[in-house]
Amino acid sequence: MIKITRDHVIYAFSRWDKPAAFAEPGQCVEFETYDCYQGMVLKEGSTFRDFDRRFGNPATGPLYIKGAMPGDTLKIEIWKLEVGPVGILDIGGSSGALKEAFAGKEPVIRRLSVKSGRIDYDGIDVPAKPMIGVIGVAPSGEPVGTLIPMNHGGNMDCTRIEEGATLYLPVSVEGALLSVGDFHAIMGEGEVANCGVEIEGRAVLKVDVLPQTGISWPVLENERQWITIAYGSSLDEAAQRAVEQMFYFLCRKMGLSETDAGMLLDMAGDLMICQIVNPQKTVRMEVPKWLVYAMQERNAS
Ligand code: CA
Ligand code: CA
Repeated sequence: MIKITRDHVIYAFSRWDKPAAFAEPGQCVEFETYDCYQGMVLKEGSTFRDFDRRFGNPATGPLYIKGAMPGDTLKIEIWKLEVGPVGILDIGGSSGALKEAFAGKEPVIRRLSVKSGRIDYDGIDVPAKPMIGVIGVAPSGEPVGTLIPMNHGGNMDCTRIEEGATLYLPVSVEGALLSVGDFHAIMGEGEVANCGVEIEGRAVLKVDVLPQTGISWPVLENERQWITIAYGSSLDEAAQRAVEQMFYFLCRKMGLSETDAGMLLDMAGDLMICQIVNPQKTVRMEVPKWLVYAMQERNAS
């Protein structure tokens, strides 16, 4: 299997980056990642003074997928997602909804042991729910920093990007240039205060190219749901986009009528906040597959 070690990191998704590796469509690739602080505060006793912000939120890559062309869709199946032995939780006045509450206080860092799917928070056993915070491809224009989520993916911080899920991203440049990082051992919906349990890890991703599918934003699929993930400078803007994108997905890709698609969203669409802590917010719209298929079948009969 192709492996990209974490010696190959990016801090912006850029069409000008030299690929770290090349894959054929249908191949599995292993990505080894740093935590979002690039390991700089892992050592007991280290503080944010030991963290050089220029190296924040590294993503491993990019992977060049042969044959991927602008207008295509990159299909990424998350076959395996493993996290490291120690996760970082920190709280302080620098970002998030509790900025005011922690203003002027020294940030607190906790290093939590993560073993066999359990997180040890000060003697309390918390079941881990590993997820990928940053996953994206290169945009066609200017480079986009790894802190920012947009239509190329990036820092989406969506808890549904987990083992077993399949992510679809629009390809904007030849080879797509896929990079991955910022894993969390667990993260609350909204990532409200500052972070998830930030952790290094490894992911095995199967990459495939779907020619000219015309999807221009991220779509996610798991066993039960179709999900659109949208960004915006406000939650309102992101929410509006997430709903519209799901509506168009249901009409154009799933073949539902506008009325059925709208009513499906009213009956069973769940609008969920991914995160409110990044420079752009992300919101997702989830719909149950069974209802989409039931509407398709009824229309076919
Ligand atoms: Ca993140
Ligand atoms: Ca993170």
